[in-house]
Amino acid sequence: MFAKFKYRVFLIYFACLAMLGLLGWLDYSTGYELGFFIFYSAPVGIAAWNLGRWPAVGMSLVASMAWALADSYGGQKYSTRFAFYWNNGIHFASFIINAVAIARIKLELDQRRQLVADLKAVRTALQTVAGQLPSCPVCGQSHNREGRAGTELCVSQPPAELDAALCEPCRSLSGKSK
Ligand SMILES: [Zn+2]
Repeated sequence: MFAKFKYRVFLIYFACLAMLGLLGWLDYSTGYELGFFIFYSAPVGIAAWNLGRWPAVGMSLVASMAWALADSYGGQKYSTRFAFYWNNGIHFASFIINAVAIARIKLELDQRRQLVADLKAVRTALQTVAGQLPSCPVCGQSHNREGRAGTELCVSQPPAELDAALCEPCRSLSGKSK
């Protein structure tokens, strides 16, 4: 599995770099008049989503370099060297902002997914325990097995709701308070 993961990471790196190479070449061959800036953001975004923040920051650097090379060799003329560095800096900064924002969103989504899975597992465990309790946790009255609406004490069949832990009077009370 680890080897597979490594292979996937390598593939994504390679695909992003290939995309940047292709974009740089397209940008160069169409000349400086056509702006390709938005397309350079795609590999940066893909890297951020799949590889995380730092690989995406690295990809931002490569994207800026590809853009700068295409721009220089594509015939773009700047009156001052400063303008070239300015444009390059702006591009690099917006790549970085994209990279960090997308990586952050992905991280939050992953954490949320993990949290939901954890909650689900805990809930299932709680439901199982609720069905096994010998007495009602609210009033402490022992459960009369016959009185539990046919709920057999069985781990393989957890009750649908935590209410199964309560005795009949407490259950109807909690139902009313909702
Ligand atoms: Zn009770």
